[in-house]
Amino acid sequence: MTTQMKFAARMDRMKASEIRELLKLLEQPGMLSFAGGIPDPALFPADRFAEAYADALSPARQAQALQYSVSEGYLPLRDWIAGRMAGLGIPCGPENILITSGSQQALDYLGKLFLSPGDTALVQWPTYLGALAAFNAYEPRYERLEINDNRPAAEITAAAGDGAVKFAYLSPDFANPTGRTVDRAGRAALLARAEELDCAIIEDAAYQGLRYEGEEVPPILALELTQKGDLDACRTIYCGSFSKTLSPGLRVGWVVAGAEVISRLVLMKQAADLHSSTINQMAIHQVAKAGFDAHVSGLRAVYGRRRDAMLRALAAEMPEGVEWTRPEGGMFVWLTLPERVSGAFLLEQSIAKEKLAFVPGQAFFADGTGGNSLRLSFSNSSEAQIAEGIARLGRVLRQALGE
Ligand code: PMP
Repeated sequence: MTTQMKFAARMDRMKASEIRELLKLLEQPGMLSFAGGIPDPALFPADRFAEAYADALSPARQAQALQYSVSEGYLPLRDWIAGRMAGLGIPCGPENILITSGSQQALDYLGKLFLSPGDTALVQWPTYLGALAAFNAYEPRYERLEINDNRPAAEITAAAGDGAVKFAYLSPDFANPTGRTVDRAGRAALLARAEELDCAIIEDAAYQGLRYEGEEVPPILALELTQKGDLDACRTIYCGSFSKTLSPGLRVGWVVAGAEVISRLVLMKQAADLHSSTINQMAIHQVAKAGFDAHVSGLRAVYGRRRDAMLRALAAEMPEGVEWTRPEGGMFVWLTLPERVSGAFLLEQSIAKEKLAFVPGQAFFADGTGGNSLRLSFSNSSEAQIAEGIARLGRVLRQALGE
């Protein structure tokens, strides 16, 4: 008999999703997948990393590379990031930067930093699943964050009840899962709303830089810094990542914020894992320094063509009544199906009949709505696979709709 362990209440909120089971079927031969929001491994700068690891392990550097290091992160990498942030309109020093093990760790720490059980987190409907998973452990309530919301702030605060509204979380550039970008006016409106609510803004910039069309929009933190002139006066906390540009497997991300937030996050980092991998930070630094912009511009060209291929195929193959987003960057297109079609049912059918996978949309909604939606990722399929996959999707959809 299994022992009944007395787990903490927070574990009730931490559930494995049912779709994980279905996605295990992806190994089957002939399967096409638009499910994982992952970079194409063929585009990793693998040779550069091979050199960087060889350098880090050379006699002159190996003692440092294999040793413990400071919780804040490898200083040359923080200096390099500070330079990038200045280019994005966020001049800051290395003391404003904490290196994390991917931006996912930053989301966990920010949940820990702000949320007591019952506190309110404002999130978009839908929102990045991993953010909900990270915050869930701290037992918040979720309220819907609408960009250009015209609800009075008092209404949101009242809905929050005793647990205060602690932060608004969003991924403003080419969001996961919708691919949508919040424009400059939306960002300004959000800043004004956060002032009224007196809450933090968590700006998840995981896809920043992967723009294929349209003009750059300044980060929310850059807009706030222009207004306030001092990072310590800003309520926005910026989370960056090398996962989508250089490598997700090395787990290197960063947070930019005022000194008080950074010093608290450093305490968490010390308590949780002391620091992110020293050698991985050194390797990321060397590869980034040697040609980050050229590498990202290569990614933008390839992913941009894949996005175009997906949008073209959707226009040709989707039946009446299906709508989709037109992302200016990132990795995702979001489909809204006629009300009566369930994304989860469609996935079952699609895997069984057409060997095609994607992610049903419902899991991205904190309130469990959104059953008639799904997320397609175009980053890890060739243009030919995209054309074929969307044709398969058209067939299962037409069947589901009884056409
Ligand atoms: N934020 C968003 C919006 C994401 O899509 C992801 C990864 N899918 C992450 C954060 C986490 O990325 P990482 O921890 O690899 O930086």
